[in-house]
Amino acid sequence: MRYRPRLLLLAIPMLGVVWSLPAQERPIRRRFLDPSTPTSDDPRRVPMPAERGQVHGTIVLRGGRVFDGSGAPPSPLTVVITRNVITALLPAGKIDWPADAKVMDVTGKTVLPGLIDLHTHLTYTDVGVSETRADHDGDAALRGAERLRYWIESGVTSVRDVASHGEVPFILKEWVSAGRIPGPRVFAAGKLITGTGGHGAEAELPSIARPWRAIRQASGPDDWREAVREQVRAGADVIKVASHFSKEEIEAAVQEAHELGLKVCADAETFYIQRAVEAGVDVIEHPLPRSDETIRLMAQRGTQADPTLVPYEIIFDNSGGYFGATSRRFTFSKAANLEMLRRLKVAGVTLGIGTDLVFDWFRYMPNAYLTEMHRFMDVGFTAREVLSIATKTNAKILDMDDKLGTLEAGKLADILVVDGRPDEHIDDLAKVDVVIRDGRLVVERGQVIIPRHEAKPMPTPKTN
Ligand SMILES: [Zn+2]
Repeated sequence: MRYRPRLLLLAIPMLGVVWSLPAQERPIRRRFLDPSTPTSDDPRRVPMPAERGQVHGTIVLRGGRVFDGSGAPPSPLTVVITRNVITALLPAGKIDWPADAKVMDVTGKTVLPGLIDLHTHLTYTDVGVSETRADHDGDAALRGAERLRYWIESGVTSVRDVASHGEVPFILKEWVSAGRIPGPRVFAAGKLITGTGGHGAEAELPSIARPWRAIRQASGPDDWREAVREQVRAGADVIKVASHFSKEEIEAAVQEAHELGLKVCADAETFYIQRAVEAGVDVIEHPLPRSDETIRLMAQRGTQADPTLVPYEIIFDNSGGYFGATSRRFTFSKAANLEMLRRLKVAGVTLGIGTDLVFDWFRYMPNAYLTEMHRFMDVGFTAREVLSIATKTNAKILDMDDKLGTLEAGKLADILVVDGRPDEHIDDLAKVDVVIRDGRLVVERGQVIIPRHEAKPMPTPKTN
């Protein structure tokens, strides 16, 4: 008899969790696609013809220590890439490729899956740029192209861009995937959706300040739903939201995104994180404050986290604090952010790596990415575990783990070769030698290579 009340107390919160699960599960659209149906190489999974892209031939990486992304120690293997796909991992010494293959000797170097950055803003303007210039589509596109080079030369072969200028991120995505500009794959959210005056839409004098064109302010559940559809129409691979939002607004946005087959990530803080997790948001960005109860709920629900400690370190170091934002009305510090990362790890929350470099901070690459990795090691991850997070886990958070994130036969050929042993010394990652993205050799000796253009013969006169 004495135990009854205790059992009841335990049962109540458990029932709460069970009840809240089914309504928020993500409908799996892919279940209606036969696995043999070729689809677009993004989370949208639009059916596509099997033969596409202009990459031909075979590349062989021979003599390297292959870290496959799984977390297992590197082993001596030869990687064979046919067109844009990894077709074989051969035991060292075995030769099995066509005679005309391009064979690259990577003896002593480490071969690993291309890194993924889960949090970019490719079109963000530098400080001191005029509003007219900042607002210009052409300038925004070129800013993006400039930054893509920093990422690809840092060994990053995919970025998740979580709010950029207008339709520019989708154009960047297209140009990269067609091989017309060098860069990582761009998985774009389009605009960030937030409540009126919410994060990203804070201005001292909103009547004269033009809203940043990466922001879509929305008001009421129907408008939040519409804002999601607008991003989907533009080509979104993921939906990005930011606090503030009501329960009804975030629920409407999550339901709409999930039904359209996309994950939702949220820049949220304090009780908004709890609200986002309850509504079924898939990924929480940043190390912002939240309760232990919220962390527990994240672990229970499988809500993932992209803690991005590095941008806050830059802010704290440059400004001594985070000032002037109504959406950041709480006290936080480097130590508190590291503690948040530690608590998320202890709770068993799936963690990913993103940099969130704004202004001209892209110039910190790859150091910013490495700093984020060091914070993960500060809370107890090994270098090998962090490498696996940056590749395999990040691909999972991107919703691309069936095509990216590990070196396995059948996966897309996004590969990094570094002149060192990053699984032992993480800073060796900066010694980028070769980067292959989608079967294309994009970086050699640490530098983007742009092959000479192929001249098309003049048209032959038509005879009639
Ligand atoms: Zn951001």
